[in-house]
Amino acid sequence: MNNSLDIPIYTISNAAKILKISVHTLRMYEKEGLIIPFRKESNQRLYSNLDIERVKCIQETINKDKINIEGIRRVLALLPCWAVIKCSKKDRTNCEFYSGHTKPCWMINHKNNFCTNKECRTCEVYNSYGTCSSIKEKIKELLV
Ligand code: SF4
Repeated sequence: MNNSLDIPIYTISNAAKILKISVHTLRMYEKEGLIIPFRKESNQRLYSNLDIERVKCIQETINKDKINIEGIRRVLALLPCWAVIKCSKKDRTNCEFYSGHTKPCWMINHKNNFCTNKECRTCEVYNSYGTCSSIKEKIKELLV
């Protein structure tokens, strides 16, 4: 994604400060598959402004809409990635994500299919969920 909003600039402690949440919470969102921070070669996590927006959307969904992490993950598991990346029918047939409904595609260990070794953080599918309204926008775009 070539967007200045997506340049990873904040360390985990800076991102946590901006968001007024703990470093532990940010790590937990990552472990739960809701966010994929950029990793430097040293393995240090960095966050972009888009990541900050994404976490704000998660926080709003949890605090205002009263949907828990599992609920958010289930919504993300409905994203029709195959329609975005246009993988082959054979890839879909063998894909754990295509037949499942509990985890987003980027949480699946893809073996021998289109997504093997792809960088999910920069993928259009992961990025379709950048703000609270963007998932719906992506679905509208796919259904035109
Ligand atoms: S590259 Fe990653 S985010 Fe994109 S469709 Fe494949 S698993 Fe999903």
